[in-house]
Amino acid sequence: MPVGSDLAARRRAPDVIRHGIVLLAIVVALASVPVGDVPLAADAGQRMAITIDDLPWNGATAPGESVAQATRRLLATLTTRGVPAAGFVNCARTGPNDPVLLSWREAGMELGNHGAHHLNIDGVDLSAWVKDVRECHDMLTMALGRPDRLFRFPYLHQGATESRRATALAALRDMGYTTAHVSIDDSEWILAEAYGRALRRGDSDRQDAIATAYVEHMAAALAHFTAVADSTVGRDMPHILLLHANALAADHLGRVLDDFRARGVVFVSPADALTDPIYHEPDRYVGPRGLSWLYRIDPEGTRTARPTVRAPTRLDRRARR
Ligand SMILES: [Zn+2]
Repeated sequence: MPVGSDLAARRRAPDVIRHGIVLLAIVVALASVPVGDVPLAADAGQRMAITIDDLPWNGATAPGESVAQATRRLLATLTTRGVPAAGFVNCARTGPNDPVLLSWREAGMELGNHGAHHLNIDGVDLSAWVKDVRECHDMLTMALGRPDRLFRFPYLHQGATESRRATALAALRDMGYTTAHVSIDDSEWILAEAYGRALRRGDSDRQDAIATAYVEHMAAALAHFTAVADSTVGRDMPHILLLHANALAADHLGRVLDDFRARGVVFVSPADALTDPIYHEPDRYVGPRGLSWLYRIDPEGTRTARPTVRAPTRLDRRARR
């Protein structure tokens, strides 16, 4: 089975659940979060790094548009605004001479390892998982001369037991990787799936509605995790935002970035953000969930410091990233 189909199949939820989740995501984005009241980021200088997973591409492109063309639009959205980013590659879906990867590099973006086949560390034999990461490492080395040594765990799953987690981290260290943690988790991929379906149907009204929900959902995610950081970290810290390479981003990420800037966000590179000591604290969460790093360093926070804005992560426990 082609890798893309395999990924798509694993991502597929029953239709009823899928559509229900999409509607719920939009409802939450639009209704439960008073976006007009979302506070501006602290001191008009909230640092944020953009990370984009599942390269070369996740889901649909606009009719008649190739992945390479869509990638160029996505990258232009970033470069025209001077926004640095890192892309995380599923290497089995691409190759060392893929112009899509080269265009990321030419745009000055970092490129990291997201596993060759996007394996869930808790769903396969651990040695198979490590082999898959090494396969991606070898491909990136061939493609780029050197990978940027950033690794993003598929699904944000880092190993459900202490021994799995420790073995995985030791293997990543051997390959020279730093874990590219996510502080701002979100459900953008749910909106992106709905957007892809609207693109295929040519339903522009639906596309517009989803784009608006996208901007508001991302503002809600920023507000949510800014509040979590205030309560668990208690100082200014650079956030790292999770996004995916998809048509929703190609078409509308610019609106999100402009909205963030209007809220006082200052964009920094993921590598710079990861130098903050917060990303080198011990991982205190042991379990199967894919979580923001802010919850991993303070698992109690998921119970005792629940912010007022509903967590976007509540929507996607069963889902992928
Ligand atoms: Zn992913």
